Amino acid sequence: MKNALVINTGGTIAMSVDASEGVKPQDDQAVNKILPFLERYANVTMINYVNLPSPHITPPIMNQLRLKVEEELQMNTYDGVVITHGTDTLEETAYFLDLTLPVHVPVVVTGAMRSSNELGADGPVNVISSVRVAVDPESRNKGVLVVFNDEIHAARHVTKTHTSNVATFQSPQYGPIGTISKKSVNYHHAPLDRETYPIQHADANVPLLKAVAGMDPNWLRFLQEQPIDGLVVEAFGLGNLPPAILPTLQQLLDKGTPIVLVSRCYNGQVQDVYDYAGGGKQLKEMGMIFSNGLNGQKARLKLIVALQQTRDFHELQGIFAV
Ligand code: ASP
Repeated sequence: MKNALVINTGGTIAMSVDASEGVKPQDDQAVNKILPFLERYANVTMINYVNLPSPHITPPIMNQLRLKVEEELQMNTYDGVVITHGTDTLEETAYFLDLTLPVHVPVVVTGAMRSSNELGADGPVNVISSVRVAVDPESRNKGVLVVFNDEIHAARHVTKTHTSNVATFQSPQYGPIGTISKKSVNYHHAPLDRETYPIQHADANVPLLKAVAGMDPNWLRFLQEQPIDGLVVEAFGLGNLPPAILPTLQQLLDKGTPIVLVSRCYNGQVQDVYDYAGGGKQLKEMGMIFSNGLNGQKARLKLIVALQQTRDFHELQGIFAV
């Protein structure tokens, strides 16, 4: 029999709906009730680590969770680790762990869209699928995985795409790397672009700014007033911005603040193609770092991690080229 560790961190999977139809944490043992259904797949140790709605999760908490996984894997022999998590920021924690956990043991992140006492609750089946994936030898060396609704996704590419549908987790442009059937775990392809970095802290102050038509430069005043360590900008399309905000961004660059550019499109990469005011060519010349297809929330976490390695522009550029 394989050994699996399940670490619970909260989210809808650990919540229940009350008489007023409010969904909230009410039963600290909600996920533990799934344990008997896991017995036929592995010897499962379950730890209730925290019980937080995932909007309460922060990069320092993600970093503590990384330490917890490392500590558990040093103390015990597990074939796989499953982390249950709220779905709102699940992709962020999964990607943070993917960037910072240098382990070969499969680490799977899962959750639920329906709370534990709702009809059709998806938590139990997601945890069962996750344990099956986590202890499957084929899952080794594929980075942190997100298992949801019978699909296996790479942490780097997966994103929450629907507010309530149980098929919310999708990997735009790439698709799932595997599927789970009644009797087997099946991989179709493996992620090629894996990378891990050593990290002590995850406390860099990195805001995320989304471009919209007609942006008023006054909205960006907080960026000049706050001590920020870096900035991620979700640009339009191929990587273009309203010219009105460029002077503020130039001031930040002049102060040595790294700015990472991503696209608010969820497919494709930013590139220095357009040659008009605010076009990608100008942004590149100003010294913005073009990211390689990450969404804004993931690029922000990558910058937080990257700033633990270096503040050098060229080195940061190299890190974001991966
Ligand atoms: N709001 C919840 C959370 O992220 C959603 C969920 O878990 O599905 O904690």
